[in-house]
Amino acid sequence: MRFSFCKGCGKCCTGPYISPREAKRLGLKGVVKVPQDERGKCIFFGRDMCTLDEGDVPLACRIYPLMPTKSWWVVRVSCPNWNRIDERMVLEIMREFERGKEDWNEKI
Ligand code: SF4
Ligand code: SF4
Repeated sequence: MRFSFCKGCGKCCTGPYISPREAKRLGLKGVVKVPQDERGKCIFFGRDMCTLDEGDVPLACRIYPLMPTKSWWVVRVSCPNWNRIDERMVLEIMREFERGKEDWNEKI
């Protein structure tokens, strides 16, 4: 929810996958996904936006609607603005992923 195409609609806020380190940082134990509340939303979703400090937002949220697979990237078309992503943004998202990857893979 940080790129200029993102209008913060919250459609992607349904509980992202998180790394063990991210889970620890968020005070969550024994989960690989952020739990949902009764609305079916991520528990960190407030009335209309993410309530986490920017530094705590999980990597999966920071690179949405792009998602890496084993051999390529896919675009999640559930984001209403996915078709506004241009080449420059793709590169920016990939750089964000590279920055966060070590934290994701780090054992705790
Ligand atoms: S952590 Fe924040 S950005 Fe990520 S799904 Fe939850 S509310 Fe949305
Ligand atoms: S679904 Fe797309 S536009 Fe909506 S908050 Fe998520 S990234 Fe932003």
